[in-house]
Amino acid sequence: MTLTRDQVMDKVVALTKRRGFIYPSSEIYGGLSGFYDYGPYGMTLKRAIRDLWWRHMVELRDDVVGLESTLMMPSAVWEASGHLTNFVDPLRQCLGECKKRWRADQVTGEKCPECGGPLDDARMFNLMFKTYVGPLEDRASEVYLRPETAQGMFVDFKNVINSTRVRVPFGIAQQGKAFRNEITPGNFVFRVREFELMEMEYFVRPQQDDEWFAYWRNERVRWYTEVLGIQPSRLRFYDHPTESLSHYSKQTTDIEYEFPFGWGELEGIADRTDYDLAVHQERSKQDLTYLDPETNERYLPWVIEPAVSVERIFITLLLDAYDEDVVNNEPRVVMRLHPNVAPVQVAVVPLSKKEELIRVAKEIVQMLRGQFRVEYDQTGGHIGRRYRRQDEIGTPFCITVDFDTLNDRAVTIRHRDSTEQERVPVDALGARLAEVLKGPP
Ligand code: ATP
Repeated sequence: MTLTRDQVMDKVVALTKRRGFIYPSSEIYGGLSGFYDYGPYGMTLKRAIRDLWWRHMVELRDDVVGLESTLMMPSAVWEASGHLTNFVDPLRQCLGECKKRWRADQVTGEKCPECGGPLDDARMFNLMFKTYVGPLEDRASEVYLRPETAQGMFVDFKNVINSTRVRVPFGIAQQGKAFRNEITPGNFVFRVREFELMEMEYFVRPQQDDEWFAYWRNERVRWYTEVLGIQPSRLRFYDHPTESLSHYSKQTTDIEYEFPFGWGELEGIADRTDYDLAVHQERSKQDLTYLDPETNERYLPWVIEPAVSVERIFITLLLDAYDEDVVNNEPRVVMRLHPNVAPVQVAVVPLSKKEELIRVAKEIVQMLRGQFRVEYDQTGGHIGRRYRRQDEIGTPFCITVDFDTLNDRAVTIRHRDSTEQERVPVDALGARLAEVLKGPP
């Protein structure tokens, strides 16, 4: 069915609230702009995204190790990295009625987009949240909530090379919360103030950045399309022009997705050269060079960094998967999520509330639990309605236990996308589901 992209955004927002994917943070107190909580299905989807990223970026590779560094880091780190000076957005405030604040690069002209009032001159606004460690609120106790996880990898670089057996080229990966005091959070969870970054710093020999930059561009798109099932036609590369590069970058490519509000950055891949290691070496007065055992050379490795937030992938997956069609002359909403990410992979539904059926259904849930993300669904309403509820949250397979099951020990697997049904013996169910659910490794 053809839906306009605007309609899709509204529908996805409504669905995710209705079905417990997302709640505004602290809603009973009026919410907090740019912050969201994730309900049962939402947090499961986020966890699936996180796990698949970790699996493909770390576990299935022999050249990447993991790290968990702290969320708060001293000012010295951000001074050295350049974030205190450069992690800024130009801010303009409306001097008219609404007093709204805008990112200067997102407004055109001199008038407030909301009320038409005059705007003040642009001034720079640092996006980092500052707080204090200890009882004194003075300069010495200032710390910042990290706006990226990357600095943890650079600050711990020496520890990692001294305590593990990594050899260039290798990567250090990290997932964890990051905070940015965005001037204009919005487009649902596309731009929020607290989010979870997944970043990998891939250290290579100096000047060998171009080939690894090309490698990671391709590898990341492969992950989005093959592992997460995102439609390739809605992805494209955007190469940043030199004048708009971040202070640390030699070249940056965004993997963009065609959002309802236009093409937007899903993931950024940056060639950070040896910028970060060099500034930390200089400021900390510690030797951060790497001794290459093959060539006996000492150098600061260069860095390629793929960076994306769980939230950007979350919103992308839902927008990409949302669809409406007609089944049995009735319109249906269906989330065509890849089985790898579906919050519920298998729903087990007894045809009626008869005791014997419920017993078998619960046995099946027990049998499948641990292997798949399973939900037992005995809510009222006829079977068609329950299928629809599962379609709406993207469940790829429903297992129906009916009266024949009591005689033939077989159940029906109902496929979400085709709505086709197949009969499978209970004993063969686990193997059959593993087969149909199996994506790439
Ligand atoms: P922008 O210029 O749009 O503010 P940026 O280019 O500074 O963003 P990066 O530093 O490249 O953003 O961020 C890396 C990745 O982190 C992005 O591709 C995106 O997936 C995610 N990200 C960045 N900011 C946010 C945010 N406010 N909310 C959710 N995800 C974010």
